[in-house]
Amino acid sequence: MSIDSQQLKQQAIALGFHKVGIVSIDSASDAEQQAVERLQAWLDRDFQADMAWMANPRRQDLRQVLPSVRSIICVALNYYADVDRPKGEEYAKISRYGWGRDYHRILTKKLKAFAQWLEAQANGVEARYYADTGPIQEKFWAQQAGIGWIAKNSNVITREYGSWVFLGEVLTNLELMPDRPHTEHCGTCTRCIEACPTGAITEPFVVDANRCIAYHTIENRAEVLPTAIAPQMQGWVAGCDICQDVCPWNQRFAQPTDELAFQPYPWNVAPTLAELAEMSEEDCDRRFPASALRRIKPDMLRRNAQANLSEPPD
Ligand code: SF4
Ligand code: SF4
Repeated sequence: MSIDSQQLKQQAIALGFHKVGIVSIDSASDAEQQAVERLQAWLDRDFQADMAWMANPRRQDLRQVLPSVRSIICVALNYYADVDRPKGEEYAKISRYGWGRDYHRILTKKLKAFAQWLEAQANGVEARYYADTGPIQEKFWAQQAGIGWIAKNSNVITREYGSWVFLGEVLTNLELMPDRPHTEHCGTCTRCIEACPTGAITEPFVVDANRCIAYHTIENRAEVLPTAIAPQMQGWVAGCDICQDVCPWNQRFAQPTDELAFQPYPWNVAPTLAELAEMSEEDCDRRFPASALRRIKPDMLRRNAQANLSEPPD
C-alpha cells in the first residue's frame, strides 16, 4: 500500500488546509519519548490545573489511539482576521480563535473529507482524524511534521501565518515520506514571558494553567476566579491573546485567512463588559449561535466580565 506524499499534500491543500506535513512514527520515536517525558514533568507539577484529560495515558502513546498507526499527517488552518479590537476599557476581549464560526466544525468537516479521500486510495487504508478533540500531543506532532515550532509561549508558530492557526491530525496505517521536523526560532526573544500579566509562562516553553487567564476564562468552572488572577485580566473574558499579540512573528507574518467561516461575527469582537456581566442564557444562545465560545457557559462569561468590572482590592 503506497500513496504518493505529494499527491496527498495537494489534496489537503485543495480541501482548504493552509499547511500540511507528515511524520513517520518510527523515525520520530526518540523525539516522541522526550515529548512524553516533558508532558509527564508538566503533569507532575500540576500545571494542567483541572484539565484532567491532559493526563489521559493515551496521550502518551499514539498506538493506544490507533494500534496500526505508521504515519501522522498534520494540518494547519489559518484563522487570522484582519480586524482590530476596539480600544476602550468598556469592551470585553475575546480571543481571536472565537471570533468566527466554531473551528471544531470547520476543521472536522475538512478532516473527514480528507480521511475519506485517503481511505478511498487503496484497500485496507485506515485513517482516523482529530480536530483538537483527541488524546494527541498535537503541538509536538505539528513540529515533527514541519508545520511550525513549539514556541516559548507554548503555541505553535508557523513562518507563514504566525501562531494564528488551528491544528488537526490524521493518523494512518500508511507508510509515507516524512517531512523534517521544524527548527525552533524564538531565539533570545522573551517578549511573551514579559508580557504575560500573571507570570503564567514560568520558564520558556512551560505554561502553568493555574496562572493562565485563557485557562481560567474557558476551563475553570468555579463560581469565583482566584484572587491572583481576577485583578490581572485586562478585559479578557474568553481566552487571552496577550502572549500571541506581542510575538514578533505574529506581528510580521499574520495574514488574513481566506476561510470565510472565520470572518468575525461583529458582536464577538466588541461586546461590552457591562453587557456580558448581565447576560442571560437566552442572550448567550442568540449572540453566540455557532461559535467555539459556547464551551464557556453563560454563568462563566458573566463571572469573567464581572471580575473585570470589580475594583481590585486595596
Ligand atoms: S494566554 Fe495570557 S495568561 Fe496565558 S500565558 Fe499567554 S499571556 Fe499569559
Ligand atoms: S514572543 Fe518571542 S519568545 Fe515568545 S513566542 Fe514569540 S518569538 Fe517566541
